[in-house]
Amino acid sequence: MSSPQPWVGPLSHRVQQLAPSATLHVSQRAAALRAQGHTVVDLGAGEPGLPTPACIVQAARDALNRDDIGRYTPVAGIPSLREAACVKFARDQKLTYDSQHILVTPGAKAALALALEALVNPGDEVILFAPYWTSYSALIRLAGGTPVIVPTRAQEDYLPRMEAVRQALSPKTKAILLNSPSNPAGAVWPQERLQELVQLSARQAVWLISDEIYGRIVFDAAEHTSPASLSRDAWERTIVIDGVSKTHAMTGWRIGLAAGPANVITAMTKLQSQRFTCATAVAQHAAAFALREPPPVADAIKKMTHAYQQRRDAVTRWAATLPRVTCHKPQGAFYLLLDCSAYIGRSIGGIPIDNDITLANALLEQARVAAVPGTVFGQPGTLRLSFAAPDHELQQGMERIEEWLRRKTL
Ligand code: PMP
Ligand code: GLU
Repeated sequence: MSSPQPWVGPLSHRVQQLAPSATLHVSQRAAALRAQGHTVVDLGAGEPGLPTPACIVQAARDALNRDDIGRYTPVAGIPSLREAACVKFARDQKLTYDSQHILVTPGAKAALALALEALVNPGDEVILFAPYWTSYSALIRLAGGTPVIVPTRAQEDYLPRMEAVRQALSPKTKAILLNSPSNPAGAVWPQERLQELVQLSARQAVWLISDEIYGRIVFDAAEHTSPASLSRDAWERTIVIDGVSKTHAMTGWRIGLAAGPANVITAMTKLQSQRFTCATAVAQHAAAFALREPPPVADAIKKMTHAYQQRRDAVTRWAATLPRVTCHKPQGAFYLLLDCSAYIGRSIGGIPIDNDITLANALLEQARVAAVPGTVFGQPGTLRLSFAAPDHELQQGMERIEEWLRRKTL
């Protein structure tokens, strides 16, 4: 007798329509190939290859000795972390907040999800600038909203034209989601441009969700400005998203921050109490130490950002020598967006390249380098390389990509 088929139960439309995070998926595929014995270079992952600074890890070890470390923390976060976040926002973004304006979440992604859930009604629109981080569109849809995409161009430093923003605004617009420095283009909004956006959005009193997670990773003369710092009105309309994942090399600790006016932070805290309870206690203690930024932490951040700047210089110099590829020098974050559109419709080493997804797959299969196809960022024809990978991997990745692109192209 044949064994009965297992019951495969029906799932929600919500989850059926959802694609898994492409950025995380690419790295997991690279890890799976490594586990099979292949030497894969992972330039897909948007996470620091450097370890969490030892002094932050030590702060977590110390916190493990606390009697209350195994308990739930307050939903909005431990008082010392919320206070440290206020110190951080005043120091780094010239923003004045009290603890009541701060919510600690399990990663910045959770802070974004809660912000969208707190603001968006079904049918509301949220404006995004392409290329945008892949999870934004998914999170907007999960909250019941509709992403409205405003394109930007490399020749215009990946900053939107205000006329295009004006046209995208509609009576249904609930929020504008911006990300400076940006993932994946490394665009940094200058203060004057932000001022224009603030003024334009004031007419309709829409929310600004400002993802500033890469705020400390800026290069050359670029300066990070928070829209919330530009006026009282902007402060009242902005939810700042931040965290320790990138600046402090703490992706796995899962600590994010949301800062904003008390009404929206209270609403997001209510949502968190039902969804996640609170962020992990020990990680909160480590983050409280990190955000106060005692000298050893400041020193570690300086070294890491210096390393990113050197890698940024090296990868942009290298990319300029590649056949048929162009790129724009990133001003912040740790990604290089390669415009590979000249390869689409051709073949490389006998493999037909229909689009950036087949290009990324072929690069992984043939050259064993993981990169993220630009389609998932709303920028088809491009590939995103992360230069947060350790130096030796980055070097090896560049050599492999170059060798592969120089194969016979038809
Ligand atoms: N925002 C941007 C722009 C990101 O690139 C990421 C990627 N990690 C996040 C938010 C989420 O950060 P976290 O890992 O803290 O959830
Ligand atoms: N933000 C990173 C990236 O873009 C990490 C992965 C993720 O959370 O999407 O690759």
